[in-house]
This record gives sequence, C-alpha cells and structure tokens, in this order.
Amino acid sequence: MANMTLTCKVCNRQFLVIDQEQAFLKEKNLPLPTNCPGCRQERRLKLRGERALYRTTCQKCRKEIIVAYDPKVVKNMILCRQDYEQYYLENDPIIVDPLPEVS
Ligand SMILES: [Zn+2]
Ligand SMILES: [Zn+2]
Repeated sequence: MANMTLTCKVCNRQFLVIDQEQAFLKEKNLPLPTNCPGCRQERRLKLRGERALYRTTCQKCRKEIIVAYDPKVVKNMILCRQDYEQYYLENDPIIVDPLPEVS
C-alpha cells in the first residue's frame, strides 16, 4: 500500500493518509477518514464540549441567547429554548441535532 491523498470534506484541503493508517483502518474495518486531521481535532474538541460560544438573538422572540454554533453558518433556525421546544412540538421532529442553548 502507498500513502494516499484525500480531500477534506469540511475545508477542502488535501491531507495524507499514510499506509500504516490505511492498514489500521482496514484491519478495524473502518472507512477512510473524510476530514483532515485539523478538522478531526476540531470535531473532537466540539464533542468534548469545548465549543466556541456565540451571542445571537432568538429568531422568534428576539431574546438574546448564547449558542454553541456560529449563527452565520448555521442553517437551522436559531431559537431560544422555549421557542425551540414549541417549534419541536408543532413540527415533525426532523431536527436531529438541536441547537443547544447555553445558559
Ligand atoms: Zn479539513
Ligand atoms: Zn425565543
């Protein structure tokens, strides 16, 4: 096996998967990574709860809230907890990854 170059699905930068890593993934029956090490590290930090916090306003009641997602990149509606719960009750629960509000 040779080293291979993949393109990160998040930042579109190319990254290298060395043959040891490919062998390891194959042995564990794991898919090849889709994110570069930088983005994987970022994701890991996010999973550990070390997120950046953003100040924004609820799109419904205009109350100021703090969210863990960049409001400029988030495509979901940004709602405060009460409005989110309301929205969730009134709509099909299609939102699998709700925006957590940090209080
Ligand atoms: Zn990346
Ligand atoms: Zn609200």
